[in-house]
Amino acid sequence: MKKESIYGLPLEQLIEWLQDHGQKKSRALKVWDWLYRKRVTNFSEMTDLNPECLELLTDHFILQSLREHTSQESVDGTIKFLFRLPDDNLIETVLMRHKFGSSVCVTTQVGCNIGCSFCASGLLTKHRDLSGSEIVEQIMKVQEYMDNARQGEKVSHVVVMGIGEPFDNYINVMDALRIIIDHKGLAIPGRGITISTSGLADKIYEFADSDLKVNLAISLHAPNNELREQIMKINRVYPLEKIIQAVEYYLAKTKRRITLEYILLKDLNDQREHALQLVSLIKNIQQLINVNLIPYNPVDEHPQYQRSDHETMLAFYDVLKKHGINCSIRLEHGRDIEAACGQLRSKQVKANQG
Ligand code: SAH
Ligand code: SF4
Repeated sequence: MKKESIYGLPLEQLIEWLQDHGQKKSRALKVWDWLYRKRVTNFSEMTDLNPECLELLTDHFILQSLREHTSQESVDGTIKFLFRLPDDNLIETVLMRHKFGSSVCVTTQVGCNIGCSFCASGLLTKHRDLSGSEIVEQIMKVQEYMDNARQGEKVSHVVVMGIGEPFDNYINVMDALRIIIDHKGLAIPGRGITISTSGLADKIYEFADSDLKVNLAISLHAPNNELREQIMKINRVYPLEKIIQAVEYYLAKTKRRITLEYILLKDLNDQREHALQLVSLIKNIQQLINVNLIPYNPVDEHPQYQRSDHETMLAFYDVLKKHGINCSIRLEHGRDIEAACGQLRSKQVKANQG
C-alpha cells in the first residue's frame, strides 16, 4: 500500500479518517498539535498518543516526503532550498527575511506550461502538479530549518510565486492554503499570503467566489495586448480585457485590493508611453490596485531581455505616482545566489541531464 503524506489532510479529514478507524476526534487535535505546533519529524515522537492510534498512523501515512538536495544562502539571509520529491523531481523553495517577518516562496508545479518567454521556470515544461501535501511540506521544511537554528524564527508570510502556475493546479493549491491558514495548525493568516497568477481569468472568478481570504497578484508585465502577447503567449487565451474584467469582478466581490506585477524589461515595456498606457488601462479601478514594479533578473537562456536601468525604473514609477497610482519597486532578495525563481532548479536539472 502506498502511504500518503499526513500533511495533505485538512483537520476535518483527519478527524473523519481517525473516526472511521475507531479513534476519537480529540486524537486528531493532538496529532495536529504534534505536527504543526511541536513540529515533530517522526510519528514515534508523538508520545501521548495511544499505541493503537500511533500504529494506524504509521501504517497509513508518512511524515516527510521532501528531502533537502542543496541549499544556498545569500548575504542578505535569503535561502534557496532545492528539495527532492519521492519521484526524484527537484523543486525550489525560497526563504526571504524581511523587516516585517519571514516569508516563504513556494513552488506549485514541477516546471510550468505557460511558457512566458522571460522566465526560467517556463524553460522546463510541466512535468506534473504538486500535491497539496508537497506544497504544505515546503513550509514545514523551512520551518524545520528555523527550528533547528533555535532563534525562535517562525514563517509568518507565504508567497505562491515559485515554479509553476498556481491556478493551473487550482484544487491542490487551495487545499494546501486551507491547511496553512487553519488556526489550529500553522496559523499563517490569510492577509500574510499572496498567490500570483499569470492571469487565468476563469480561475480569477472562481477564486473571487471562494471563501479563501488571501491576497491576489496578477502578472501583467505589459500595458497592451500586442506587447503582452509577445512576452506571454497565454495572452492569446486571456487577453488584457478579459483579465481586467475578471479583476473588476474580484474587486467588487471581495472588496480586497489586487496587486499587478510588472517586470521592467529594458527598452521593451519600460518607456513613458507604456506607463501612460498602464495608467489608462486601470484608471477605473486604480483605487483598489497596487502596482509592483519588478526589476528583471536576467536569465542566461533569454539574452534578449535585460533589466531596465535604475533611472528608467524611477521614471516609470514617477508617471504612475503622478497619476495617483499606488506603486512600489520590488526589493530584491538573494541576488548573489541564483537570481530568479526557477533558475537554481533549471540549472540543476540541466546539469543532471548533461
Ligand atoms: N506563475 C505565476 C507565479 C510564479 S512566477 C505567475 O507567473 O504569476 C512569480 C513572478 O515572478 C511572476 O510575476 C513572474 O512573472 C516573475 N518572474 C518570472 N521570471 C522572472 C525573472 N527572470 N525576473 C523577475 N521576475 C520574474
Ligand atoms: Fe510559468 Fe509564471 Fe514563469 Fe510564466 S512567469 S512561465 S506562468 S512560472
